[in-house]
Amino acid sequence: MRSSATEHLRDVRGSVITPGDPEYDGARTVYNAMIDRHPRLIVRCAGADDVVAAVRYAAANDLPIAVRGGGHSVPGFGTADDAIVIDLGAMKAIQVDPARQTATAEGGATWADFNAATHAHGLATTGGVVSTTGIGGLTLGGGIGYLARAHGLSCDNLIGADVVTADGTLVHASESEHPDLFWAIRGGGGNFGVVTSFAFRLHHVTEIYGGPMFYDPADAGDVLRLYRELIADAPEALGAFPGFHLAPPLPFIPEERHGRPVMVVVACWAGPANEGKAILRPFHEVAPVVAEHVGVMPYPALNAAFDALFPTGLQHYWKTAFAGSLTDDAIEAHLAWGPRVPAVSSVMHIYPINGACQRVAADATAFANREASFATVIAGMWPDAADNEANTGWVRDYYAALAPDADSAGYVNFMSGDDQDKVRGSYRGNYDRLVQVKRRYDARNAFRFNQNIRP
Ligand code: FAD
Repeated sequence: MRSSATEHLRDVRGSVITPGDPEYDGARTVYNAMIDRHPRLIVRCAGADDVVAAVRYAAANDLPIAVRGGGHSVPGFGTADDAIVIDLGAMKAIQVDPARQTATAEGGATWADFNAATHAHGLATTGGVVSTTGIGGLTLGGGIGYLARAHGLSCDNLIGADVVTADGTLVHASESEHPDLFWAIRGGGGNFGVVTSFAFRLHHVTEIYGGPMFYDPADAGDVLRLYRELIADAPEALGAFPGFHLAPPLPFIPEERHGRPVMVVVACWAGPANEGKAILRPFHEVAPVVAEHVGVMPYPALNAAFDALFPTGLQHYWKTAFAGSLTDDAIEAHLAWGPRVPAVSSVMHIYPINGACQRVAADATAFANREASFATVIAGMWPDAADNEANTGWVRDYYAALAPDADSAGYVNFMSGDDQDKVRGSYRGNYDRLVQVKRRYDARNAFRFNQNIRP
């Protein structure tokens, strides 16, 4: 006999929302406005006990589970038809241990929440480049950001996690407890359970020197060639990525450039602030910088600097590729497609993942591609569904142009919903081991709304 919602969920401290409840439409909505799904019920969890109750309810009723941390999944994995949604959005508690340089954060925290807690102690760890993104999905898929060259991926800084597995058991995963699970959640995405709490290693990062420098697209080739040389062996405290945007209407950008294509280099020098100017000098000498917002600022300020460009409710379609090097042909493809960026929130960014990321062995964590020096994302983000074709077309054509010079399997966190066939390629030699761990912890594939590792 099927158990009723009230039986397992009676004691939930958060809330249980079902179709017909006034909050239902709000609660089923995610960040990507293209996604319109109708879950069976949504449990807004107040703590790990609620997560256990929700997972046990799903197991008893053979329901698939969609997990939502920060909600930023581009394929909208945080909601699903006829599933139970476990929404961790209210679970944001963070505790910092400054003496040990560690922090423990609940699964619904965003990087803004996390940075605020750790910055108070002059500490940080690698997060993404937008602070409204959740620590959950970002870390579980890998985690690429400003501090990656210096301190590795977010998942490389994970030292432990509390995980509710598919049968509703709460376990701690670390190097010494459930090491197979700990290995798998460092890059394997949300395939293995609900992480109610993440423990991270922290680093001394307080103020950084950096910000965006904008160039005329006519100079983009020179800038990309300089970037390629510089980032190959720049001190690892330099996180810097080039990209193409339409210039946003910001006061420091000349008005005549607003809405027009620009090339950008966003830099984050996390070394001694007085060295920052010299480190970034080549970017000022290679071509005229037509606008910039560079200086000393708290790390969380740079991490939040672009949040407003990416509000909730845009349409999203993304493609991604890893690349070992930025070849001349790839630069030509960027010069052809970058300046055709069709919307003010759409971007192409090339994130460097050399330095500390490459010092981790390919089989040490689930995140397998430790040879790549770059993770490229072509992120289509636009407000009006009427423009879907033009924007998805730009993303697809740009991606196709890069394909000959890239590992098209790409980074799981930047993939779209139609990239499931690239999951095995992204995990390379680690895929079979991931399948073994999946079988051990989630044989019925309850956690299937992700870049799925099939048991
Ligand atoms: P959610 O939609 O909440 O989660 C996505 C999936 O992750 C879930 O469906 C689930 O499968 C899993 N998940 C999330 N939390 C948990 C948990 N606690 N336990 C178990 N499973 C969980 N990525 C980068 O690496 N670097 C970047 O700089 C970066 N920038 C981004 C900027 C924007 C504007 C956006 C939209 C995305 C960006 N991403 C970046 C991609 C990002 O890593 C993924 O979208 C990621 O899934 C977001 O995590 P989330 O918790 O916010 O999303």
